[in-house]
Amino acid sequence: MARLFSERFLHALEPDERDLLETARRLVREHIGPMAEAVGRQDVFAAETFRLLVDHGIIATAFPRRHGGSDARQRLRVRLTEEFARACSAAASLVTGADLSCRAIVAGATPAMADALLPALCKGEIQAAFALTEPGAGSDVRNLATVALRDGAGYRVSGSKKFITRANVADWYVVFARCRDAGQPGGPARADEPLVALLVDRPSPGLWVGEAVPKLGWYGVPIADVRLQDVAVEPGRRLGREGEGFALAQDALVRARLGHASMALGRAMGAVEIAAAYCGERSLFGKTLGAHQGAQWMLADAMTRIEAARALVDAAAQSYDRGDADAPVQASMAKMYATDLGMQVCTDALQLTGGRGYLQSFPLERFFRDAKLNQIGEGSSEVHRTVIGRDLLRRAGDAERNPCLPEGKLTTDY
Ligand SMILES: Cc1cc2nc3c(=O)[nH]c(=O)nc-3n(C[C@H](O)[C@H](O)[C@H](O)COP(=O)(O)OP(=O)(O)OC[C@H]3O[C@@H](n4cnc5c(N)ncnc54)[C@H](O)[C@@H]3O)c2cc1C
Repeated sequence: MARLFSERFLHALEPDERDLLETARRLVREHIGPMAEAVGRQDVFAAETFRLLVDHGIIATAFPRRHGGSDARQRLRVRLTEEFARACSAAASLVTGADLSCRAIVAGATPAMADALLPALCKGEIQAAFALTEPGAGSDVRNLATVALRDGAGYRVSGSKKFITRANVADWYVVFARCRDAGQPGGPARADEPLVALLVDRPSPGLWVGEAVPKLGWYGVPIADVRLQDVAVEPGRRLGREGEGFALAQDALVRARLGHASMALGRAMGAVEIAAAYCGERSLFGKTLGAHQGAQWMLADAMTRIEAARALVDAAAQSYDRGDADAPVQASMAKMYATDLGMQVCTDALQLTGGRGYLQSFPLERFFRDAKLNQIGEGSSEVHRTVIGRDLLRRAGDAERNPCLPEGKLTTDY
């Protein structure tokens, strides 16, 4: 059946990629969509949804071929995420979460650790969590206070992490900490101490993982706190080298930002589909709601902006796949624009459906609650505005001068 939103992005996919997207669409129609309301009612890990994603090769798209994955382009992963988000944020979050939680392992693990963990992560036999955020360090990661004391060739790690997605069900944690020699004076970690990413497993003595912390939305992918008290980490469990922690986190975050962007857009597309169906049925003041100009304009604005944002996300995904130097800032633009738009569209769609939309028995109530997190996680919209603005102004000095401008200084007398 014809779809409401453009299918033009399909032409950019290879035949095997299109087949996987078709599998995703069937999964959403037959299982994920019908299950979404139940998944969205309580914040426990969506194990059945996760199993479906594993069994149909969706989670494998984030993993290298030699470890059982299909090493998909981000160009495909954003399409898959969008598809799941049309119905279920938890399913979409599990897709993008495979990048957030496992990418540093893919990129930085020793061959022995990669062989030990990645096949099992790809098959969903074990799970990992990405532990960067701390009570004093969210947007401002320079404030990270977790310390990894060098202990022979290994480390002893102490610190607190919060808001860690899936921490309560994870078997392994990618923990970011500042390194220092054991003999050095204590005190808070400093921004000039090298950042390191370390793998910590659940049974490690000194590791404490809290219960799921209640939250507004994104039910099915709970968050929990993680604390480490003098946790011993063997040398083989370091990801990359000391000082490479930021680069490893950044790579995972850039991919996760594309994920947030496509998730926000998929949900917004779903919200428009739902609101349009309602507008065709609801009758008021002698005609259907959809026959009123105000409703038409609201939906027209939503649809046009969503299509523009899909093109922006597709371009950012291509930029990442090519390895462009500006891929991180492209991902920031895609995330900021798409997630702010996603919140706006879900708000408008709920408004269009009136009291019905406000009820828990109608999906827009869930979409509305879920939309907020995309504007906060993996860098809030404000942080991305700052990143984009700084990048623009840093480059402006060397960029081609606008031909309307006179030679020389602009601030001298005219
Ligand atoms: C459901 C959920 C899941 C999460 N999962 C994970 C995870 O798996 N792993 C992980 O490490 N972290 C995770 N996080 C943490 C998330 O990435 C942080 O919440 C986010 O980076 C913002 O940090 P903060 O909450 O400490 O907000 P703060 O840094 O305290 O910022 C608060 C607000 O200040 C505003 N702000 C920030 N900077 C500026 C500025 N320059 N100018 C103006 N305003 C500004 C923004 O609106 C921001 O939202 C998760 C969070 C949530 C809620």
